[in-house]
Amino acid sequence: MASIRISKPTKCVLWQIETLSIEQLRHAFQVMATYIDDSHLIRTLLRCLECGQLYFHEFYEEIDWIEGKDAQYSTWIPIDDAESGEELSKMSPLALLVFPSIRYDYPMGADEPRGPYRSCPREPSGAT
Ligand SMILES: [Zn+2]
Repeated sequence: MASIRISKPTKCVLWQIETLSIEQLRHAFQVMATYIDDSHLIRTLLRCLECGQLYFHEFYEEIDWIEGKDAQYSTWIPIDDAESGEELSKMSPLALLVFPSIRYDYPMGADEPRGPYRSCPREPSGAT
């Protein structure tokens, strides 16, 4: 945990904009590295095209074996450096929930996706 460095990306437009759309997020990044590329779990290191802010991105799909309506979750965690992304990539999807992030949820059985929205479960240490 100690080697994960996260500070609020105050300069990044993605963190500031009031109504962020999923289309904006899809076109906002350049892929810098791929940690996991599985059909139900994709984890990458992304870089904001506008300001260079790094984000750890996870796409996670929960398989619904009965109805085939898979739940999908996307999370973008702002990170200070690529090493923090390496560390995050070793953690479980649930463990990632404690970090400030931009999230986009499509739970099982939901008619509409939720988000994108920003989630700040705790203040990152050293934030100003
Ligand atoms: Zn940015």
